[in-house]
Amino acid sequence: MRLGAIEAGGTKFVVAIGDETGKLIERASFPTTSPQETLEKVCAFFDGKDIDALGIGSFGPIDPDQASPTYGYITTTPKPGWANYNIVGELKKHYDIPMAFDTDVNGAALGEAYFGSARGLDSALYLTIGTGIGGGAIVEGHLVHGLLHPEMGHVRLVRHPQDTFEGNCPYHQACFEGLASGPAIEKRWGKKGQELAPDHPAWEMEAWYIAQAVSLYILVLSPKKIILGGGVMKQAHLFPMIRRYTLENLNRYVQKDDILKDIDHYIVYPELGDNAGVIGALALAKKAFNQ
Ligand code: ADP
Ligand code: ZN
Repeated sequence: MRLGAIEAGGTKFVVAIGDETGKLIERASFPTTSPQETLEKVCAFFDGKDIDALGIGSFGPIDPDQASPTYGYITTTPKPGWANYNIVGELKKHYDIPMAFDTDVNGAALGEAYFGSARGLDSALYLTIGTGIGGGAIVEGHLVHGLLHPEMGHVRLVRHPQDTFEGNCPYHQACFEGLASGPAIEKRWGKKGQELAPDHPAWEMEAWYIAQAVSLYILVLSPKKIILGGGVMKQAHLFPMIRRYTLENLNRYVQKDDILKDIDHYIVYPELGDNAGVIGALALAKKAFNQ
C-alpha cells in the first residue's frame, strides 16, 4: 500500500509517501505561501506517485465534518489567503482516492497510536506546544471531533503567582496558549525558548502551566498516555518538572499505577519525534484507506 501524507502547517508543508507500517519512503517540505502556489508544489510531489489514499493533518481551525457543506475547508485562520480555503476540494480535483482530513494534532495522536508511544492503546492525548498550543485526543478508539474539534490550547488557566506577563492570545489573552506557547515565552522573557538556559526560571513556570493543563485533561478525558510534542518540548528537562507538578495537582485522586508509579512512561515525548506530524498524516491516510 502506498499512502500519501500532508502535514499542512502555517509555516511549512511537509509531504511524504509511506506505507501502512508508518515507514516513510520519500518526503519533501516547503514554506507555506499562497494556497495556489503551495498546492501546486503539493501536486508536483504527488503526481505520478500512484498513491492509494491521502491523509491531511492541517493547521486550523478546520471543518472536518463530512456532513457539513464546508467539509475540507481551513476556516477562520488569520493567515492571509487561507481563510475559507477548500483544501480537500482542491486535492480531490487531482486525486480521486480516499482522503482523511483532520487537525494536525488529531493526526499526530493517531500516528502515535498506530506507530508510536501509544501503540495498542485505544485512548491517548497528544499536545503540541510550539508557535501555538493544540491537542488531539483518541477516546475509546475514536478521534474526538464533537461539534467541530477540540481547541485544547485555549482553556483558561490559573496564573502562576510570580507571573506578571499579561498573555498574548488575541482572543483570550491569558489562556494556555497565551501563557505558555513559544511566542508567549519569548514575549515574557525577551528571548526565544531555545536561547534560555535550562536553569532559567522560565522553565519552572512553563512546566507549572503545562502540568496544570495536563492535569485538567487527565480529569476530563482520562487518557491512557499523554504525549507532549512541539518545539518547546525539545527542552527535555521540562518533563520531570511536568510529571512532578501533575502528581502534586492530582494529589493521588486518580488511583491508577500508570500515574502513581509509572508517570515517566505516562507523560512522554513523541516516539515519532520530529516526524510526529507527517507520520500522523500517514496514519490518517491509513484510516481513510481502511474505511
Ligand atoms: P510550529 O508550532 O510553528 O509548527 P514548533 O513546534 O517548532 O513549530 O514551534 C516553534 C516555537 O517553539 C517557537 O516559538 C520557538 O521559539 C519554540 N522552540 C523551538 N525550538 C525550541 C527549543 N529547542 N527550545 C525551546 N523552544 C523552542
Ligand atoms: Zn486563547
